[in-house]
Amino acid sequence: MILGGVAAIRYPTVMASAVTFDAGNTLLYCDPSPAEIYARELSRLGRSVNAEEVGPVFRYAWAEMQQRTDFARDRYSSVAGGEKAWWGEFVREVLERLDHNAPWEPLLDDLYAAFADAAVWKMFPETSTTLEELASRDVPLAVISNWDRRLPEILGSLGILDLFDVVVVSAIEGVEKPSPEIFRRALKRLDLEPDQAFHVGDSPLEDYNGAEAAGLTPVLLDRHRIFKLDGYRRITTLDEVLGLID
Ligand SMILES: [Mg+2]
Repeated sequence: MILGGVAAIRYPTVMASAVTFDAGNTLLYCDPSPAEIYARELSRLGRSVNAEEVGPVFRYAWAEMQQRTDFARDRYSSVAGGEKAWWGEFVREVLERLDHNAPWEPLLDDLYAAFADAAVWKMFPETSTTLEELASRDVPLAVISNWDRRLPEILGSLGILDLFDVVVVSAIEGVEKPSPEIFRRALKRLDLEPDQAFHVGDSPLEDYNGAEAAGLTPVLLDRHRIFKLDGYRRITTLDEVLGLID
């Protein structure tokens, strides 16, 4: 940019006017854990299992199902029958790996209802105060999440949906992070350029790399200081975002 014939100085501190957020493990988390909920429902419909047994199986099944989705395509739209069919496949994967005797259809219905219950979704202590402070400063806010269609309802029941100008959900868009496309759509709906926004999320791949590829300024939320690699613009709690905004 040229100002009055002089090249403007590029300051190392990036200033942005908007913030987009990941949802899961960034704004909110599941409590009891998904493994605990699966163990509870499996035990109700068949042999008794605990979260320690279910946890690794759950994570491997999740990773494997993700591998089967073409890059950038939304996982839920990659299965005929949509998101409930995707969850049905996931539940069958979990049952098979556990060699568990629960009938999959009633189990799917129970689990689907369990995760739709707003009571299992909790916000981090600083989530709503940070969002309210940003909103009070008229900072445009968005959610960009790899989630099924139920996310807006969950955000509504937590009382934070109205704080966002835009909510972009992969299952509705048919594209998921880290594809730059989902970030671009959010910024387009905010009527902003990508370089005017920070994206805050807990996944180095989906959030950090994805946002960076789309031209946003990425911020890694590393609550437990587990990422060893240098080079991330990093925060450990959401309220540190307030210091990044003019
Ligand atoms: Mg996340």
